[in-house]
Formats: sequence, structure tokens, C-alpha cells
Amino acid sequence: MDLFEYQAKYLFGEHEVPVVPGEVVTTPEMAAEVAGKIGTTVVVKAQVKTGGRGKAGGVKLATNPDEAANHAKNILGMDIKGHTVHRVLVTEAAEIADEYYVSFLLDRAERAFLAMASVEGGVEIEEVAATNPEALAKIRVDAIEGVDAARAAQIVEAANFPAEVAEQVAVVLQKLWDVMIREDATLVEVNPLVKTPDGTVLALDGKVTLDGNADYRHANHADLVDTSSIDPIELRARDLDLNYVKLDGEVGIVGNGAGLVMSTLDVVAYAGEDFGGVEPANFLDIGGGASAEVMANGLDIVLNDPSVRAVFVNVFGGITACDAVANGIVGALNMLAEKGESVTKPIVCRIDGNNAAEGRRILQEAEHDVIELVETMDGAARRVAELAGS
Ligand code: GDP
Ligand code: MN
Repeated sequence: MDLFEYQAKYLFGEHEVPVVPGEVVTTPEMAAEVAGKIGTTVVVKAQVKTGGRGKAGGVKLATNPDEAANHAKNILGMDIKGHTVHRVLVTEAAEIADEYYVSFLLDRAERAFLAMASVEGGVEIEEVAATNPEALAKIRVDAIEGVDAARAAQIVEAANFPAEVAEQVAVVLQKLWDVMIREDATLVEVNPLVKTPDGTVLALDGKVTLDGNADYRHANHADLVDTSSIDPIELRARDLDLNYVKLDGEVGIVGNGAGLVMSTLDVVAYAGEDFGGVEPANFLDIGGGASAEVMANGLDIVLNDPSVRAVFVNVFGGITACDAVANGIVGALNMLAEKGESVTKPIVCRIDGNNAAEGRRILQEAEHDVIELVETMDGAARRVAELAGS
């Protein structure tokens, strides 16, 4: 998960990386209020998950609250490389004497981390790497050893930081390493890291990517998810711990096992060509050990998608046998009927694998109008495409 600058700086603050105070806001009025509180010249900065905001006009200095409001008004709603600006960060402006670059990233091929640093910061680092590669120092960081004072000093020396900031930069590097490790990040980047005229070193920008595999170790990281840019159905699926991705078509898909669901998407798209270009409406993997309850949640999600016209439940019974899955389907329909949301969309089921015969018997005996059993995966794909296309 990539973080916004304001979120990255919040984590910086937690780990004592020096940043300027500021607040994130969503309206020009609030920008003026924060600027008034800060009381000095401020910077109004677009919060979007892409670089080059400065060049795009998304970073502006303001000497008073009115000016801050005006900049916020212009920046909010702006499109920067396909990202719409919904928030701006208003921070105290720093005076800049020098701009540097520092970062840590996970180097998967080397099974290590990589520290990069340059005294030519401020500009895009790809440009420095391309035009003046010797100005960008790269130092391997062993995952176990990490960045201690000695390693930090080595990075500072390799990048030729001037003597008057060497010690401060070394300390900042160790603090940024704390962010990297303690927050389970795969990228921590500061561009620019600046020296102010009085010689203080500050992180003026921040980019952090968190490792989603480590989310369970960080209760606070859930708060950093940007729900405004997530599809509402995906959000609900996430709350239910379901592996769901919204797609553009009309056929709702529920399957168990990522591989099976992927091939289900393919056969449905292929069959759909004969029925006016019908396509899958979603990816939903309810998992190998899909219980009745999980099936019910999955069906609920898919049936509630307004673009779904017919549903394909494709299950290969394994750890959870087909009879349990069939009971899940019947239970889900009963549950929805009790909620007053009787299901009217057709559901084509293909059930195979462990205890398939019993599973099919349960579905047949339930005699639900909407359920249709089809023996083969290809046959079921064709049938569901036909139903969705008609
Ligand atoms: P980016 O363009 O998306 O990387 O956004 P940055 O946060 O890096 O800001 C772009 C540029 O705006 C920086 O390189 C600085 O030159 C300038 N800038 C940002 N914050 C300040 C500030 O507090 N004071 C001054 N004088 N310039 C700033
Ligand atoms: Mn930057």
C-alpha cells in the first residue's frame, strides 16, 4: 500500500524523523484556518499518490491565509497524472538552502535492502540516475544488520554529503530505517531532504510503501487505507475478508480457489462472445476451505451488485465437501429471503469434486426457482452467459 505524503510524514513523526508541522484539509476555508494557526508562510501541497506534483502546479507557497485558501481552491479537484486531488496538506514553509535525496528500498533480487542517497535532490531521481549516475550513491543494507551508525556514516560518505550536515543526515538515515523496519515498509523515500539556511536538516517530502503482508502486525495501518478511492462493493468484501475484485461485466462469479476462479473468468468471457459480449462482473474467490457462511457472504456481495444479471457458482469440493457448499448456497438464499431480499437473479451452479453427488442432491431438493445445475464448467459458462445476455 502506497501512502499519501501526509501519512508518510505522520509515520516519520512517530519515528523522530524531522518534519515541519502541518495539517491535511479538504476545503479552502480549512486551508486558511490552518495557515492562520501556523502564522508563517505556508506550503499548500496536493495529496495524490504520484510524484511530480511540484511541476504540475500542485505545490504552492502562500504568505497569508487568503492566499492559502486561494491555492487550495485551485489545487483541490486538480488532476495530476490521472489522480484527482481530494486533500491538500498545509505545512509551515521551510527555507531551502540545499536539496538532497535519500531512500531505502527492498531489493528482492539481492535478498537485501538498498540505500540510495544523493546531494542532488529536489529533481526527479530517475533523471539524476540517467544523466549523472555517479551522483547517486547505492549501498547494500543487510536485512539482519540494518542501518546502524556505521552503515549510516558509510551512506553519507558515499553520497558526499557536506561535513556540516553529515552527522544530522546520518541520524535521519537511522530514523528512516526505523520507519522501514518497525512499520514493515518496502520503500521509504525523502525527496527533497533539505538543509535550511540555519543548517537544520528536514524531510520536506515523504513517500512510503507498506508491505500489506505485514498488516496483521500493525493495527494502526488499517487507518491509512484510502477508502475514498475503493469501490464500495470491494470495501464491503474486504470487511468480510473476501478476495473480491470488481470487473466490468454482467456475470457474477463465485468460486473456490484463485486458479479456478481465474479460469472461470476466461470461460465465461469466451462463452459470452456468443451472447452479445457478456463478461464477468467480478472476481470472487471464497477460498479452498469455503464454509457455508463464507458462501452466503459471497453470494450476498455478488447478488447485490446492480450490474450482475446472472451468477455462476463454480465449486470444486476439496477440504470443504460439496454438500457443505450446497448447504451454504441454500442457506444463503433462505437468509436473503428472510431479510426481504428475495433472490430473483438466476444462479447457475456447477459443483464437482469431494461429495459432489450429495451436493447436487441438496440443491435439487431445495427446489429453488433461481438455481440451475449444470454438469460441466463449459456448459455452465455457456448457460450463465445466455441468461445474462438475454
Ligand atoms: P513532488 O514534486 O511531488 O516531489 O513534491 P515535493 O514535496 O517534493 O515538492 C516539490 C518542490 O516544491 C520541492 O522540491 C521544493 O523545491 C518545493 N517545496 C516544497 N516544500 C517547500 C517548502 O517548505 N519551502 C520551499 N521554499 N519550497 C518547498
Ligand atoms: Mn518530492
